[in-house]
Amino acid sequence: MLIVMRHGATEEEVQRVVDVIVEMGYQAQRMPGAQRTAVGLVGNDGRVDASRLEGLPGVQDVIHVSQPYKQVSREWKAENTVVRLPGGLCVGGSDVVTMAGPCSVESEKQILDAARQVKEAGAVILRGGAFKPRSSPYTFQGLGRPALTLLAKAREETGLLICTEAMDADGVGWVAESADIVQLGARNMQNYSLLKAAGKCGKPVLLKRGIAATITELLLSAEYLLAEGNYNVILCERGVRSFDTITRNMFDLTAIPVVHKLSHLPIIADPSHGTGLRDKVIPMARAAVAAGADGIMVEVHPDPERALSDGAQSLYPAQFGQLMREVRVIAEVIGRRLAEPAGVNA
Ligand code: PEP
Ligand code: MN
Repeated sequence: MLIVMRHGATEEEVQRVVDVIVEMGYQAQRMPGAQRTAVGLVGNDGRVDASRLEGLPGVQDVIHVSQPYKQVSREWKAENTVVRLPGGLCVGGSDVVTMAGPCSVESEKQILDAARQVKEAGAVILRGGAFKPRSSPYTFQGLGRPALTLLAKAREETGLLICTEAMDADGVGWVAESADIVQLGARNMQNYSLLKAAGKCGKPVLLKRGIAATITELLLSAEYLLAEGNYNVILCERGVRSFDTITRNMFDLTAIPVVHKLSHLPIIADPSHGTGLRDKVIPMARAAVAAGADGIMVEVHPDPERALSDGAQSLYPAQFGQLMREVRVIAEVIGRRLAEPAGVNA
C-alpha cells in the first residue's frame, strides 16, 4: 500500500503516517518525490485496512497495490529505475547498454583477449562466469575465485565494468567485492537464500529469468532483492524452455514490453542463452533492441571452437563488431543510443 501525502505536507505529518504504520505492525518506507512525498507500507500479505491512515492530516490518497510484487511494480513507483554504475554508466535510462564476453573465464589470455575485442567493438561491460552452474557435474565448472582476479585485471586494463555470476549465498560476498554487477543465473532465480544475500550485497544485481519461470515469478524474485533494500536490480530475459527443441530455449521478447509495463525496473535481453545458436543470436539481439530492451548481453569468445562452455552460441569477435554497428542504428531509430564506455560522460 502506498500513502501519498499532499503537496507541502509537513515533516510531522509524514512522521505521523510512519508511526501509525509501525503501530499497525508493518514497515514504513519514505519515498520522497519531486512533487510530493509518499510512504510505502510493506510487510503485509493481503489487503490492509486503510481507515486509520486515510484520515490522518496531510494524507491525500491511499493506493492499494494490486500486484503480488509490491516495490517492483509500476503502481509503487511510476518512474523508471535507473541503475547507476561506476563511471556514470546507467542501465534503464535512454542509453542501451551492451554487455559481452565469454560464457566462462578460462585463462588470463582468454579473458584479456575477449575484453580487448569486445571493448574494441564498443561494448561497455565485460561478462564472464567465474562460477558456472552446469547441467553436468563432469563439465567445466569455472575457475572460481582466481577468475574474479582475472576479471578485475581485465577491467583495469580496458576500463570495462564487470558482470559475473554468484552461485550461492556463501559466494555472493566474494563476487560483490570484485564485480560491478552481480549476476544471478536462471537456475537460481528462485534460490531464496541467495536472493536474500544478494539483496544485502551492496552491488547492483542482474537477475535472469528462470528456465521455466513466469514473468510474475521473475518479478516476485526481484521483490526479494528490493525487500532486502537493494533497489539496483536489472532483469534479464534469457529464454524459457518450451516444447520445441529446435533452439536451446524459446526467447520471449514479449517479456520486454510486458515487464516495462508492470515494473519500473530495467530489463535487458540475452539472445545467446535465448537461442543457443550463434547464427540466431544476431537477429534476436537486433530484435531485442528494437523491442525496447535496456541492454543486451551477448556471449563472445576469442576462439569459440575451443570454448570450455557455450561455444556453439558464442559469437566470433568480428561478428560481434558487425552486430554492434547494426544495433547502434536500431537504437537510434527508436530514439535511444548505445551507452558510451564508463567514464566518457561521467
Ligand atoms: C550465463 O550467463 O552464462 C548463464 C549460465 O546464463 P543462464 O543463467 O541464463 O543460463
Ligand atoms: Mn553461457
